[in-house]
Amino acid sequence: MAGSVLQYNERQPGLAVEGRLSVVSWKWVSLKMMLPDAVVPESQPAHDEGQPPAHLARVYQRLLEVYGEPGWRPSGEPLGELVATILSQHTSDANSERAYRQLRAAFPSWEELLAVPSEHVAAVIRCGGLANLKARRIQEVLAELMRRQKAQIPPSPAATETEGVEAFLAAELQRRQPLEAWEYLQQLPGVGPKTAACVLLFALGWPVMPVDTHVHRVARRLGLLGPKVSAEQAHLLLAQMTPPAWVYPLHVNLIRHGRRVCLAQRPRCPGCPLLNECRYAGGLVAEEETGSEQVAADPSSAEDR
Ligand code: SF4
Repeated sequence: MAGSVLQYNERQPGLAVEGRLSVVSWKWVSLKMMLPDAVVPESQPAHDEGQPPAHLARVYQRLLEVYGEPGWRPSGEPLGELVATILSQHTSDANSERAYRQLRAAFPSWEELLAVPSEHVAAVIRCGGLANLKARRIQEVLAELMRRQKAQIPPSPAATETEGVEAFLAAELQRRQPLEAWEYLQQLPGVGPKTAACVLLFALGWPVMPVDTHVHRVARRLGLLGPKVSAEQAHLLLAQMTPPAWVYPLHVNLIRHGRRVCLAQRPRCPGCPLLNECRYAGGLVAEEETGSEQVAADPSSAEDR
């Protein structure tokens, strides 16, 4: 689960860049039709198709200068990533990593995990917090995937029933375009846009930007997104404007900036390296002033990890 771990805790900043974002093209043809005009920032000049906006390019470069280029290796395990992301909700990285390790040690296969009462699973992941809820959620996801696997007629040649649910999910995602795979994951119980994006980015290396509370807040303050853009809309807008190779570094560095400088309550604007690029320097966007900052429906997006 190196991907998810590296994403949030930054404990391995020097890790060599072994992963490479797959050059997978999003199908954004109808994206603009899905988004109301109000979510597009007024100050965002039109940019050439295939070229990032100049403002985003300057922000991206400045973030690289300040925080460096993060490296990581896609885990290649979408189901493991999905479970790890569920475990990471509303807890620290250390606790969720411990809970994940204990879960994998206690249940060598996902099928075994599904076969026991949820109280048993909850006891194993107790250190990760919200254990009862997370245990049920994990089992619901596994049950739904296994139901789909059994119902598949004809079975996918890449993942038969005997190969397990992990291979089934991997095959289901691999045969889809990124946007389609993102939507597929969100059909699973309790899986929202950020969790789905985490799976695709950290497990498969696909250029899908997870928008957590830091990314959402900082991108809106900078003016990369309009002030009324929800976190869910932000996934689509940021993916549309961000070159695939930038997705992972931009995601990590926006989180770093949000944790260290552009804090939720008291942003440190006077010393901010992005002061000249910020639309809201010294102030807050209107939605924050009224205390109505929007977050995604995905419960994992509501936390300030
Ligand atoms: S200038 Fe202030 S609001 Fe803007 S990015 Fe920096 S800390 Fe955040």
